[in-house]
Formats: sequence, C-alpha cells, structure tokens
Amino acid sequence: MSHGQQDKLKQQLWTGDYYNEGVTHDHDGFFDKLKEECGVFGVFGHPEAAHLSYYGLHALQHRGQESGGICTSDEEEFNYHRGMGLVKEVFTNERLQELKGSNAIAHVRYSTSGESKLANAQPLVFKYREGDLAVATNGNLHNAMDIRKRLERLGSIFQTSSDTEVVAHLIARSPYDQLEDAVREALREVKGAYAFLFMTRGKLIAARDPNGLRPFVMGKLGDAILFASESCAFDAVGAEYIRDVQPGELLVLDQNGMREERFASKQRQSVCAMEYIYFARPDSDVDGINIHSSRKRMGKVLAAEAFVDADVVTGVPDSSISAAIGFAEQTGIPYELGLIKNRYTGRTFIQPSQELREQGVKMKLSAVRKVVEGKRVVMIDDSIVRGTTSLRIVNLLREAGAKEVHVRISSPPFMNPCFYGIDTPSRNELIAAQKSVEEIRQAINADSIHFLSKEGLLEAIGSDSTDKNSGMCLACFDNDYPTMADTSEGKSSEGLVESTK
Ligand code: SF4
Repeated sequence: MSHGQQDKLKQQLWTGDYYNEGVTHDHDGFFDKLKEECGVFGVFGHPEAAHLSYYGLHALQHRGQESGGICTSDEEEFNYHRGMGLVKEVFTNERLQELKGSNAIAHVRYSTSGESKLANAQPLVFKYREGDLAVATNGNLHNAMDIRKRLERLGSIFQTSSDTEVVAHLIARSPYDQLEDAVREALREVKGAYAFLFMTRGKLIAARDPNGLRPFVMGKLGDAILFASESCAFDAVGAEYIRDVQPGELLVLDQNGMREERFASKQRQSVCAMEYIYFARPDSDVDGINIHSSRKRMGKVLAAEAFVDADVVTGVPDSSISAAIGFAEQTGIPYELGLIKNRYTGRTFIQPSQELREQGVKMKLSAVRKVVEGKRVVMIDDSIVRGTTSLRIVNLLREAGAKEVHVRISSPPFMNPCFYGIDTPSRNELIAAQKSVEEIRQAINADSIHFLSKEGLLEAIGSDSTDKNSGMCLACFDNDYPTMADTSEGKSSEGLVESTK
C-alpha cells in the first residue's frame, strides 16, 4: 500500500471511545464532555518498576489518551520511552523489558489544544548539571507563561510548550545542588494545580499543590512506595493505599528512605469537586472518599431536592450510573438500563459517513426501546457543558418512545472555565453561563430539569474539611478560584491564564 493510500485509510479510521480506553475522546462530537488532562504514576524500589507503571497507567487511561510514557532509573541507568496513543499501543513487552531500573515515573496525557505533539509527551527528560532529570505532572500552572517569558529573556531555550518544562528550567537554574532544595524553590514560584513527580538517578520526589486541587495518592507494594493520580491504579497492581499526598507536601525518596517535608504552608484546601462528580473512576478514593459512594449520595440528594413522579430512572453511562442508582434508591422508582454505551468500537472501527449517520447509524449510545417506550423517564447526567450532548440523549430517549424525559444533573450549573488542569470551553460556549435554567430545559427538549445545589453537592461528597466549601474547589460553579484567595475577595478568573500543556 502506498503512503497516500495509507494516509487515506487512516483518515477513514476512527479512534474508539470506550471505558478505560478512550472514554473521554470526542471524535465525532457526540460526547460533549470536559476533558481531564493527565494522570501520573510513580514507583520507588521495585525490580518490576516499568511493568508496574504500565499497568498503573492503564488503570489511569481515562485521564488521558493522547500519549503515554514511562521513565525508569536506578543508581546507574536512566531509560525512557514515550509515544502517541493508548498505553497498550505505546508499549510492547520488549519495550518494557528495555526499561530497566527499580524506580519509575510514568504519565498519560490528554492535550488541551492544537496538535498533539510527541515533544510534549511526558515524562519530560532533561540533562542538567547534576545529571538526568525526569518530570511528570498532572495539572496546570497559571503563571507558567510569565515565568517562561522571564526565563527566555534570561537565555533559556524551551523545547516544548509544556508547563512542566518551565519547572525543569527553574530547577536547572537553582543555586542548590540537592534536587529537593531546587524543587522546593521552583514550586514556591509557580501557581496552580498539580501533582508532580521528579526523578533523578536514585531519587524520586512527589509534590502536590498547596490547595490540593489535583488528586495524588501514595501506596505501597512490599517495600516499594508508589504514587498515583488515583487509587484505582494501586488496585490494578495489587498495591495498598497508604494515604493522600497532603497539599503543599514534598516527599523525598532515596537510599536513606522517605522524608516527609513541606514546600508551602497550609492554604485553603480545595480538592477539585469535578473529580467526585465526573472525572475519577468510581473505584477510586479521593482524599479518603469513595467516588461511587459520593456519586450515589449526589443522586439521593438530587431526588430529595427535585423529586418527580416517573416510571424509570436511567443514568447516562458511565459516570452517571452511580448517581442514577442513588436517585432510584431514594425515590423507589426502579433503576433501569435505559441507555447503553457501545464499548467495543475500538481504534480501527470505520466511522460512518454523514449520510449513514443521518440514516440513524448510532455507534456510541443507544436507548433501550423496551425499557423506555411509553414511560416517564428520569435521566440522570453528571453535568451539562454546551448542552449539545444532553439534547441528543433526550432526543434518543424520545425516539425510543419515552413519554416524558425529566433531566436531573448531579452538579450545579457549570458556568466558569477551569484554569486548574481541566480542558473546558470558554465561558460563552458554556450553556449555563448563557441561559437560565428554564432556557436550558427548552434547549435540551426536556420536560423538566434540575441541577444539584452547591449545598447538596457538598453534603453528598461529605468531606469533613472545615475549610471554605468543605475543602472543595467549586470555581466552575461559583467563580471562586481558590488560588486567587490571597489576592482578592470577590474573586474572578481575571488574572488566571490558561497555559498550553
Ligand atoms: S474549576 Fe471546576 S474543574 Fe477546575 S479544579 Fe475547580 S472544581 Fe475542578
């Protein structure tokens, strides 16, 4: 086959969209969902560090599907491999065998904008005066652009458009010889949300942002210490969860063991509420709270706030099923699988032409006619972004014969962009920022609609933090950006800058 033919074939192929292997991709625009940006995984002191990272990354695949990478090291060697695509496509067994060393940091990435570039795939690996340095992060630094411009004026040459490289340059320029001192100084300069892993030969450092915006957990497997964006990655490798990395904490692991230090004093704790609502896997615990259980409680509170008499409750798969079960339990209305997601389309599935789509070829989601026909249906979803997905799903249910469709959303109206590592449209594309609740109901063709209140959401998550908003970031709902807390009351997103990862 010629290159031209191959290119043509590639254009006809479609990257699949199924749970844990690309669920958040939006290749045909059906799922209008927010995109998590990255997942990190780290291992210190295990002879199979590369293989553990592979399985850990696979469990974190829902956090990023554009690229994956693993860097391994011990006292002598430093090896890495990164590639575009899903973890199972980037790595072969042979490739993993080459990644020798008992320490590893690993990464899955979703790119926020523009073309995905291999140069931006992580872990990023640098040579600096103390030797090799690898860095992987989940999150976003909103002052990265300013620091980057300053460093460029001082002569730094950047290879990527990633925030992560900004931190690497700060470390390289530090007067300190010890990595932990240089990291501590660099992190005091940056602002934003992050879970960072740094690795040199024989040393691994983990750090979480001072507000705890992005999740980050520590576990153990035998004598090895592990880190991950979500605890589901520990279950995947048989590791035991120890605790969450604390906001502002710096954990240093080397031949002397683990040192627990801080690089920042305690700030207002602000864990991303969207992790509980939508991003994290139901089997993960974030800050000690199980995701499935908190979503179920959201469904219960939603039912208490906006009961509607109906025949069946259904959830939009996969992230809304837990809340739908909660709603059904609270109301006594039976939970049914009214919507089915096709998980088996895969990466080589041929995308139907526009004509076939118009004729009703549906690949990603189907309504179950026998369940919804002639019924009053409560449809639970976790969020409404632009409103296009909700309209399609309500119409799917109506086409399958639903008599009434009552939409219940397990989060407050999503009105503000995120600057903390979640890819969101601008405010003028967010339907809740542009329309009233009644106008949204009309736009998505629902018989009734209700968004979970902010108070209801916090009650459902059930954090015992005494910080504002029970220790949650709710900025996309209430415009209160926690990293602006020290600069202004009556905060706004002004001054926060989205940077390219
Ligand atoms: S603004 Fe929203 S999506 Fe972003 S960190 Fe806060 S809660 Fe999460």
